[in-house]
Parts: sequence; structure tokens; C-alpha cells
Amino acid sequence: MNIPSERKSRDTAERAPFQVSFEFFPPKTDVMEERFWESVHKLAPLRPRFVSVTYGAGGSTRERTLRMVKQVKAETGVDAAAHLTCVGATKAEVDDVVHAYKTAGIKRIVALRGDPPGGPGQPFVQHPGGYTNAAELVAGIRRIGDFDISVAAYPEKHPQSPTWDVEIDNLKRKLDAGATRAITQMFFDNRDYFELLERAAKAGITAPIVPGIQPIHSFKQISSFAAKCGASMPDWVAERFDGLEEDPETHALVASAVAAEQVLELVDEGITQFHFLTLNRSNLVLALARLLGVRPD
Ligand code: FAD
Repeated sequence: MNIPSERKSRDTAERAPFQVSFEFFPPKTDVMEERFWESVHKLAPLRPRFVSVTYGAGGSTRERTLRMVKQVKAETGVDAAAHLTCVGATKAEVDDVVHAYKTAGIKRIVALRGDPPGGPGQPFVQHPGGYTNAAELVAGIRRIGDFDISVAAYPEKHPQSPTWDVEIDNLKRKLDAGATRAITQMFFDNRDYFELLERAAKAGITAPIVPGIQPIHSFKQISSFAAKCGASMPDWVAERFDGLEEDPETHALVASAVAAEQVLELVDEGITQFHFLTLNRSNLVLALARLLGVRPD
């Protein structure tokens, strides 16, 4: 039997502490807001590097994103990062949002181009007077303040990048414009992520490319999200959830096993930073953090 005797995921004495961050979305209703805060308060004691709050398609959550990041920081003391896109707004309007973050003491921004109102499948049309892409947005943010900027990376290539060379050139441009790290789109086959790391390293990219981990709370919902953003759901993952629509208990156990396998495999390969997409739920993420030895204060 060929079981490796040393695994980083089990080597608790030697390993460096893992760094985690958590992504939330701005809640739309009072009930959703209750769940948001419940999750934030459960995850904040894990002392994440930051908690990020997404920016609704086409800038639709501009005020809510700002309110949530301000409150997260004020109520928990955890650093908050605001996502920002350039869709449907002039440069001046986007810059105003950046100034508002600066005034509110928000020092971290996840800078994105965003998707057109018709969804990720539609071609992106630059708003008249708007930023063309994320690289330009990063440069614009840099002109306003000394923010810690994260950008997006795609283990399976952005659907609009015709080739890997275009994809990696674009990632490099965003980092060269002043971003500190990239955070990936969700992926379910770790090989895609490792190949991205290799491609980036070959292009001379040294900034961290942090894996975006999406636990599969609901296979139906997550596979639909994945399809929309161009992330593939491997057959073997689909098979594990097959037939569990009416069996939430087993579904939850399988979800936890699938996410644990993904995260521990990354740890065994030396990955030490993780960005968890929480969908405003804490339970699976709490369990994953525990596997990393990340415990509440
Ligand atoms: P860019 O890096 O600008 O690139 C997009 C595509 O355009 C690439 O294919 C690139 O190769 C191409 N491109 C860029 N510049 C040029 C050029 N000069 N010439 C030719 N082609 C070019 N969306 C939201 O609406 N709100 C969010 O909060 C949000 N958060 C996200 C967080 C993460 C971690 C990730 C991975 C994605 C997130 N998204 C969010 C989705 C994101 O907005 C979409 O994936 C969008 O389609 C691309 O954004 P980008 O920043 O990667 O774009």
C-alpha cells in the first residue's frame, strides 16, 4: 500500500498558521440580514485576514456593500474588503465609491471588471467614460489611495479569454497595475488550480494566487452558479450528490466530505492561504477552518 507517511495536512506541529478570508454577499431582506450577521459573528472570532463583501451585478448593491463592510469592521474589528466593479458607471462614479471607502476607513478592495447586465455569457461593453477592465480599475484605485487590492484569477480561464496567453497576460497586467494578490474563481478539480499556478509562475507572476473555495451547501444551487461563471462541475462530484435532493442530512455530510477533500489536498501540496465563499452561511466553513487548525480566539 502506498500511503504517504508525511502529509502537510496532518503535520500540525511544524506547519505555519494558515491564512483565511471569508466572502459574503450583501443581504437584501431583513431575514437575510439576520443570517448574514449570525454567520459573520460565528466566523469573525477565527480572526480571518479579511472578510469581503461582494458588489451586486452592475453595481446594484453599491450602498449596501459599503454599509456592510463598514459595519463588519466596526462590529467585529476584522478588516473588511469591499468588492468593486466598473460595470454601468463612469470612471468618476466608480472613483466616488473608492473615495467613500477611503473616508470610511476601508483599506481593502477586490477590484473587478464585473459582468454585463445580461450575465456572464454576454459580451462586455465599456460604459461611456467608464473603466475598460479590471487592470484599468486597479490603476484608478491606486491613484486614489494606498489600498490593499485583490483581483480575480480563473483556474479554468475566463470564458472571454481566447487563449491561456491572453488570460495570463491579463492577470499579470492587473497585478502589475498594483494588486497585491489574486483570488480565484470557484473550482472543483484542484488540478486546474495547480496548472494555473504553474502558468502564472512561468510568466513571472510572484503574487499569491489564493484559491477561492466554494463549499457545496446545495448541489443544485452551486452547480447552477458554477455553470453561469464558467466553472465546471466534474462528473465525479455530481455523482456524489446524485439522488440526494430529498435527503438534506446526507447531502450536508457529502458536502462537508467533498470540501474537506479539496482543502486538505491543497494543504498537502503546500497551499497556506484560502478564501472561502460562504454564501452567508457559516457551518461548512467553520468545519473547514477547524481542519486547518484555525480556531476561534
Ligand atoms: P478582467 O480581468 O478585466 O478580464 C475579463 C476578461 O476580459 C478576460 O477574459 C480578459 O482576458 C479580457 N480582457 C481584459 N482586458 C482586455 C483587453 N484590454 N483586451 C482584450 N481582452 C481583455 N462580479 C461582480 O459583479 N461582483 C463581485 O463582487 C464579484 N466578485 C468576484 C470575486 C472573485 C474572486 C472572482 C473570481 C470574480 C468575481 N466577480 C464579481 C465576477 C467578475 O466580475 C467576472 O468574472 C467578470 O466577467 C470578469 O471580471 P475580471 O475582474 O476578472 O475582469
